[in-house]
Amino acid sequence: MTTDDYTPLQMYIAGEWCAAENGATAPVVNPATEEVIGHVPLATSGDLDRALAASVTGFQAWRGTPIARRVEILRKAADLLTARAGDIGRIMTLEQGKPFPEARNEAVRVANSIRWDAEDARREYGRIIPSADDTLLSVRKEPIGPVAAFTPWNFPAGSPNRKIAAALAAGCSIIIKASEETPGTAVELVRCFADAGVPAGALNLVFGDPAQVSGHLIPAKEIRLVAFTGSVPVGKLLASAAGAAMKPSLMELGGHAPVIVCADADPVRAARRAATAKFFNAGQVCTSPSRFLVHADVHDAFVAEFVRAAEELVVGDGLAEGVKMGPLANERRLKATEELVHDAVAKGAKAVTGGARLDRQGYFYPPTVLVDVPADARIMAEEPFGPLAPIVRFTDLDEALEIANSLEYGLAAYGFTESAATTERLVRGFEAGILSINHCGGSVPEAPSGGVKASGYGREGGPEGLEAYFLTKRVSHLLG
Ligand code: NAD
Repeated sequence: MTTDDYTPLQMYIAGEWCAAENGATAPVVNPATEEVIGHVPLATSGDLDRALAASVTGFQAWRGTPIARRVEILRKAADLLTARAGDIGRIMTLEQGKPFPEARNEAVRVANSIRWDAEDARREYGRIIPSADDTLLSVRKEPIGPVAAFTPWNFPAGSPNRKIAAALAAGCSIIIKASEETPGTAVELVRCFADAGVPAGALNLVFGDPAQVSGHLIPAKEIRLVAFTGSVPVGKLLASAAGAAMKPSLMELGGHAPVIVCADADPVRAARRAATAKFFNAGQVCTSPSRFLVHADVHDAFVAEFVRAAEELVVGDGLAEGVKMGPLANERRLKATEELVHDAVAKGAKAVTGGARLDRQGYFYPPTVLVDVPADARIMAEEPFGPLAPIVRFTDLDEALEIANSLEYGLAAYGFTESAATTERLVRGFEAGILSINHCGGSVPEAPSGGVKASGYGREGGPEGLEAYFLTKRVSHLLG
């Protein structure tokens, strides 16, 4: 596999693959080699206006397509994605860095969530309400209309697909601005839907200057829903813009997931499971476990096993055989990771393993375990979004829960205990939208994911994941 295997980068507007009308592009870099592997087109206002117009005609065509046919097309897209998962996985690894088996698996998982959303949309029944007078009273669910969606680079297939699959399953059209750093995967994902027969305009893919694109699309009269995955500060910006235009929005933002390991937990099993989740995608996951609160009784055993697990991981180019963790996806993450570690160590933390970037080409940072991390270290409050595990000890569970809930984030939380009563305390006590006990569960098509507090609102996945894409219409019909 060479960079020649990278896909040609184009936008997809009104059923046509195209460059920007003024030819503007930005380079795309392989984070494992720092080589430029392609050039992504950057939309002009004219390109975005064409996408907006197409989203209206595409919406009319798609919502008018019988649901059985829509499901057939979406299932075909899922089958194409499954068949192309190897090629898409290689493109994803080239532009994002994650190990190839994980990248290929992401494409397969995405196909399953398209199938689930498509089937679930058939069950938006609405209801008939017994009425007090001579009217037939009903509640209908209708697709909300054209959606503007913005997605990041950590799950180059999974993140855009959450929005595309839900919008199309509900009968909406969508303009998606996927990440300019991982555009190749988005191109190939959209190609599956296009090849499967999604009509022109129902699905449009653009790239560009993020602020310019969102500033153009969110207030546009054609757009009826805004969906975003990314950082809290950008989420607040886009939610405000949507609010100013009186449009609903779906915000899937960052987190800083606490892990509470209780005195009665098996420290070795807990460390293995937590370390696997921690270093998945080099820690660049919004639900990544990122603050470890470990009871003093099991602290040393937990740390010892966690360090063993970290040191076993083979770090390297995601295309090389046996690699378990790739580079960070971009230079910003590498710099941010270095800064968080310097700050923690300067304030008294100790790096038991890792702690400095690898001396080689590429944005490589090793799995890093920090102990004795003081409460005022930035890493205890800022989402690390990298392969960093700060571990602190506690003795009182109420205090641990207080620390866990002390930040503005509320996305995922994890607890390890053998006690049913303690499990219930954790389940009730954690302020989070996603909870796992005795493991670190990942997202699945059939259940909702999403946050509370500054981690956002709305849900993706499960029946809840389609809710935002429908409007509710009350209809009363006077009989006779
Ligand atoms: P960032 O805040 O600059 O950008 C996050 C995403 O938002 C990117 O995809 C970017 O293209 C997009 N974006 C930025 N400004 C935008 C705008 N005005 N309009 C529309 N889209 C815009 O950060 P980054 O350096 O790309 O990532 C770092 C941080 O982002 C991480 O620390 C993490 O907190 C967060 N993040 C979260 C997720 C998630 O899954 N929730 C994914 C990626 C990044």
